[in-house]
Amino acid sequence: MQQSPALIGRFAPSPTGLLHLGSLYTALASFLAARSQQGQWLLRIDDLDTPRNCKGSIESILTTLDIYGLHWDRDVFYQSQQLTHYEDALNQLEALNKLYPCVCSRKMLESTRYAGHCRHLSAVPSTAFALRVKTDAQWLSFDDELQGTVRAQADDQGDFIIKRKDQIFAYQFAVVIDDAQQHVNQVVRGCDLLDSTPKQLYLQQLLGLPRPHYLHVPIIIDQQCQKLSKQTLANAVSLKSPAKVLFHLLNLLKQQPPRELEYASTQEVLAWGILHWNPQPLKNLRMMYLPDVLSK
Ligand code: GLU
Ligand code: ZN
Repeated sequence: MQQSPALIGRFAPSPTGLLHLGSLYTALASFLAARSQQGQWLLRIDDLDTPRNCKGSIESILTTLDIYGLHWDRDVFYQSQQLTHYEDALNQLEALNKLYPCVCSRKMLESTRYAGHCRHLSAVPSTAFALRVKTDAQWLSFDDELQGTVRAQADDQGDFIIKRKDQIFAYQFAVVIDDAQQHVNQVVRGCDLLDSTPKQLYLQQLLGLPRPHYLHVPIIIDQQCQKLSKQTLANAVSLKSPAKVLFHLLNLLKQQPPRELEYASTQEVLAWGILHWNPQPLKNLRMMYLPDVLSK
């Protein structure tokens, strides 16, 4: 019988556009973190938010990762194929009496913390409603490998949404179930998701799911201090000289690759990166500028 590997990491892009350097940076970090410990590296496509999905985006993400030599294990995992698992977990929360319908409009929700208006609705609403999970003031904390101890109260932002009014399962909920489903035990992702993590811990706890090890890498910002994202129209990564881009990304991950690696092949750059992976120089960094060599 084959033994399952000790470490399972993953990269989970949303197919809302082309892969930009910020995502490739995170992909590379999670790839190196997994491969440097002989772990598996899985690819999940976070395609639940159908109105935001972009035609052709999945194909282009897969092609880009492939050209960059970031080969994943197993079949690609699609959130859109996991709906029965989400329904099961929803029933579990329901059985714990932790869910309630919310009819609040976007307008009513302008404050950042949901004050629980709908917690005590007496009947199931006749109009479309979202489902929220009841939170409480308990402290949740985790030790991030780079960002140190992160602490937050479960109800920091109030009861949060599990299933949206348009029937789409919320990211916070899906991600917890998927990671458990795939036995992911190491989550490497951008610091923009640091604030989301306590919500995910809370759901893991309610659903009795294991907690992965977390490592949040800095997000990459442009010269205007904007996070690289589809919203800031960050360019898709170039497919022309992947080995060179990987070399510069290793530098941006503070890995200090030797100069001669700049002219090596994709496979050689990745092999060096795997052998020398050490995220510690990124400790406590939440943001990094995109260097000029990569912004052209
Ligand atoms: N799909 C999420 C994103 O692109 C990442 C989810 C995760 O890594 O937990 O922001
Ligand atoms: Zn409400």
